[in-house]
Amino acid sequence: MGYVEPAPIKDKENPFESMMSRFRIAAQHLGLNEETYNVLKSPDKQVIVNIPITMDDGSIRVFEAYRVIHNNVLGPSKGGVRFDPHVNLDEVKALAAWMTWKCAVVDIPFGGAKGGICCNPRQMSSGEIERLTRAYTTSLYNVFGPDTDIPAPDMGTSQREMGWMMDQYSRNSGMTVNGVVTGKPGVLGGSAGRVEATGRGVMVSTLSALEKLKINPYNSTVAVQGFGNVGSHAAQLLTERGTKVIAISDITGAYYNKDGIDIENAINYRLDNRGTLDNFEGAEKMDNTDELLTLEVDVLVPAAMEDVITMRNAEKIKARLIVEGANGPTSAKADDIIAEKEIIVVPDILANAGGVTVSYFEWVQNRLGYKWTKERVNRRSDRIMRNAFEYVYKTAIKYNVTLRIAAYIVAIDRVAKASRFRGGF
Ligand code: GLU
Repeated sequence: MGYVEPAPIKDKENPFESMMSRFRIAAQHLGLNEETYNVLKSPDKQVIVNIPITMDDGSIRVFEAYRVIHNNVLGPSKGGVRFDPHVNLDEVKALAAWMTWKCAVVDIPFGGAKGGICCNPRQMSSGEIERLTRAYTTSLYNVFGPDTDIPAPDMGTSQREMGWMMDQYSRNSGMTVNGVVTGKPGVLGGSAGRVEATGRGVMVSTLSALEKLKINPYNSTVAVQGFGNVGSHAAQLLTERGTKVIAISDITGAYYNKDGIDIENAINYRLDNRGTLDNFEGAEKMDNTDELLTLEVDVLVPAAMEDVITMRNAEKIKARLIVEGANGPTSAKADDIIAEKEIIVVPDILANAGGVTVSYFEWVQNRLGYKWTKERVNRRSDRIMRNAFEYVYKTAIKYNVTLRIAAYIVAIDRVAKASRFRGGF
């Protein structure tokens, strides 16, 4: 089977190619035929819109924004919307494909999509962000829909933006359509447990992997990169389960304490400190990338952004287990180095799938017009995460591959089967 190779990667890894290189390996193990390979590698739809917004000072600025639907054979496409100054089409394409594989790994009936607006929300007022969010929703009114494409929060967005998106879509429709977006505030139909769901899934994946490694959580140390929605909840839930989180970080730097960080305190500090850990006390400050990532710990949780574990630092990583809270934190070229060092990686498309799993529950509840308790949400999402981990683990043994390639094998196999059953024109 000779798949056509993409253009060579230059200095920085292109996220889409990074995703594709793992996809190719998994496809080869599965013996995927070339036609299916060609169908699955191409995003179904890529929309680019330019949105003029009146800023608070009266000037008009144009923002470039994207929505990429990678695939929808398993169901309506699902995926977050990212507000970040570095957003670009290649990144959104990769993230959309990752959503397809992520939904398939945990076996929920969604395809994959991702959106993004190239903007810096930290330098915009709440009014400017609201206008931009509403304009984006209106521009993509024909793409979004509870049965077609369902956005959710991602980097730079939260419940607040989801509330605006739901409201704007509903205004345009002339009725309340709460199932069009997930991660909404509870009073608008948001699910109990959604905010902490991704961090909770990271915790469940970490405990499942520690069990396989025969490491007692009570004797284990953890470093978490990123203290946003994913990292802070993962750190808190892991602490509750007995692990010692000795380092955390955010854009202001990393904070280390060999006796363990008081996570509760760090979360409150951040809330009172305009969302950052700047000058956080009770810990020693260190570099957020090289020092934090190469700490002597049992578990490393990169929960900040893409491409932080690369050829440059992979060799120096000392953790025994990496649990990817972020999407794409390990570059494809670093995979081999990490594997050679026998570090186990619970890959992003498995480790951080707790968020989209509870998004699925939110969508189900919206369609039912009914609310589940937090206990029910947690019980069901924990079960899905544990089962997905076990299945990926078994697949890794069966094919003698890493957990990452195994997760791709599981996902691609499901999507390819569905795709074959559905057929083409
Ligand atoms: N943005 C999250 C992710 O990357 C959540 C997506 C969703 O809930 O649809 O998984």
